[in-house]
Amino acid sequence: MGSTASARNGTWRNWGGTVSARPAREASPASVEELAAVVRRAAEDGLPVKAVGSGHSFTSIAATDGVLIRPDLLTGIRDIDREAGTVTVEAGTPLRRLNVALAREGLSLTNMGDIMEQTVSGATSTGTHGTGRDSASIAAQIRGLELVTADGSVLTCSEKENPDVFAAARIGLGALGVVTAVTFAVEPVFLLTAREEPMPFDRVCAEFDQLHAENEHFEFYWFPHTGSTNTKRNNRSAGPERPVPQLKGWIEDEFLSNGVFQVANWVGRAVPASIPAIAQISSKALSARTYTDIPYKVFTSPRRVRFVEMEYAVPREALVETLRELKAMIDRSRLRVSFPVEVRTAPSDDITLSTASGRDSAYIAVHMFKGTPYQRYFTAAERLFTAHEGRPHWGKIHTRDAEYFSRVYPRFAEFTALRDRLDPERRFRNDYLRRILGT
Ligand SMILES: Cc1cc2nc3c(=O)[nH]c(=O)nc-3n(C[C@H](O)[C@H](O)[C@H](O)COP(=O)(O)OP(=O)(O)OC[C@H]3O[C@@H](n4cnc5c(N)ncnc54)[C@H](O)[C@@H]3O)c2cc1C
Repeated sequence: MGSTASARNGTWRNWGGTVSARPAREASPASVEELAAVVRRAAEDGLPVKAVGSGHSFTSIAATDGVLIRPDLLTGIRDIDREAGTVTVEAGTPLRRLNVALAREGLSLTNMGDIMEQTVSGATSTGTHGTGRDSASIAAQIRGLELVTADGSVLTCSEKENPDVFAAARIGLGALGVVTAVTFAVEPVFLLTAREEPMPFDRVCAEFDQLHAENEHFEFYWFPHTGSTNTKRNNRSAGPERPVPQLKGWIEDEFLSNGVFQVANWVGRAVPASIPAIAQISSKALSARTYTDIPYKVFTSPRRVRFVEMEYAVPREALVETLRELKAMIDRSRLRVSFPVEVRTAPSDDITLSTASGRDSAYIAVHMFKGTPYQRYFTAAERLFTAHEGRPHWGKIHTRDAEYFSRVYPRFAEFTALRDRLDPERRFRNDYLRRILGT
């Protein structure tokens, strides 16, 4: 089955179960040359091409009815350059494998998202991010890229080499070419102390600027139908290492956050009226804890309960107002929401279509348990987010199109002009790209 979420009877499905596709054919190239040949053959046959990662996007960004390129045989570390502080990996390498291999070498990425099941190219292509005051998305940690473009040739880019391609291709949406290798900045592995602590919603809102300013990585989860949040502060530490004890970790991260939470969601899906009471209990299930560990063990955790998600980046100064509007909207409505709302931040970056491009950003993510109708909730939330010129995560559910993006991304035309140059015949097209890029 490979690393893609699911593939049965020739049908490809994503992790969230929101998208399926029937590609005309599939390929698992084991080298850049083989991959280039796949692209050239697709061109001869007039078929579109789409490389997939691990299928963790909720949008149809990775779907194709043409040639689907699987990442499974393009994995592993190509090179570690300690002097330059970089690692070059094959594009299909899962983030987990990268993080573990780096830790063994005494190295680490600076920042990352909540999970590490994605491939490096899949994660960066949609702008996957964690939370950070000074450090930005995974794509912002890229120092160089190698791509196979629509004519089957290999193109490399960095700040110095083809800088116009580098500016856009770090978050290329799968629209500019097939990424074959990624070079990341790395640093000597360090320790982070995580402080997780419940906090009232009103207090987090009132003190948000200070919490953000005082912590390298601040995030929180607000439980709809309650006035409660769980906050998490990660800061670099001189040690000593104090990991969460194994049994305690299993109880909190597996049993409560996944096992019990799964059951609570089943109950909530069967009896929606019970959700506010369940939310009250869920919001109090986890008590405060402090631990110190290497970065990937602090940033990431298992996510086994399946859900669908929409996430928007709003200007950071608009966060508190937008959140209060979201809370008021849910309180006024008859919506029953069993999943917490996740809030994170990122500093402004210089990537053409990054959700944080040119502006300090805060992310608000709304989720619904898989199998629960989500449209009414997401539509109402999206109305609030777009009123603040929000930019949706490219891999998470949204209804925006090219006309909207040309307004909220000052450099939108730069991306589409580069795409016209690199892929004039739209070899890497699919329906999603047609909607968001206009052609
Ligand atoms: C449980 C869960 C947790 C998540 N947590 C976070 C989080 O903390 N932060 C966050 O920002 N997002 C998060 N996401 C979203 C997820 O990180 C993104 O959707 C990401 O793009 C998925 O990576 P993937 O490897 O599954 O790629 P896919 O979803 O398979 O593909 C994504 C895009 O990458 C392109 N692509 C893949 N490989 C290549 C290649 N070699 N060359 C060119 N294009 C390529 C595809 O064509 C497609 O356009 C989460 C999703 C889930 C399901």
